[in-house]
Amino acid sequence: MTIAIYPGSFDPITLGHLDIIQRGSRLFAKVIVAVSRNPQKTPLFSVEQRMTQIQDATVELTNVEVDSFDCLTVTYARSQGAKVLLRGLRVLSDFEYELQMSHTNKSLWSDVETVFLTTSNEYSFLSSSLVKEIARFGGTINHLVPPTVARDLKNVLL
Ligand code: ADP
Repeated sequence: MTIAIYPGSFDPITLGHLDIIQRGSRLFAKVIVAVSRNPQKTPLFSVEQRMTQIQDATVELTNVEVDSFDCLTVTYARSQGAKVLLRGLRVLSDFEYELQMSHTNKSLWSDVETVFLTTSNEYSFLSSSLVKEIARFGGTINHLVPPTVARDLKNVLL
C-alpha cells in the first residue's frame, strides 16, 4: 500500500492543488494532504482554517486525509509510513525549486521518492498568491478555488 504525502502551504487551497490531489488519489492507496506549519511565513489563513478548507474540498475523496506538520517533510513522511512525496509542477521556474527540494529530501532520507504531476493546462497560471491578489481587489475567484475558500476569502479580505 503506497501512501503519498502532498505537503504545502495551501494558503489557501486552489483548484490547481485540488486537481493534483484528485489525480494523486487515483495513483496511490492513500494521499495525506499535509499543511506545513512554517513560522517563517505569515499566512492569511491559520493552519486550522486551511485544513478545514481542504477537508471540505476533498470530502468525496475517501482515500484522502488532511493533516499538518511542523518538522522536516521527510521526518513527517516517515512518521506516516509514507515514502512518496507528491508535488505539482506548473512552469519552468517551479522545476528549479522542486528539483532542489527533491534532492535535499533524498539526501536526508534515501528511501523517499518525490513524484511530480504536471499541472492541468487550465490551472498552469494558478497560485494561492494570485487568488489572494484578485480577491483583495474584489475580482471573481469562483472559477479558481473551491466554494468554501471563495467564501472565506470574501469574509477576510472584503
Ligand atoms: P509550497 O509553499 O510548499 O510551495 P504551495 O501550497 O504553494 O506550497 O504548493 C504546494 C504544491 O502544489 C507545490 O508542489 C506546487 O508546485 C503545487 N501547485 C500549486 N499550485 C498548483 C497548480 N495550479 N497546479 C499544479 N500544482 C500546483
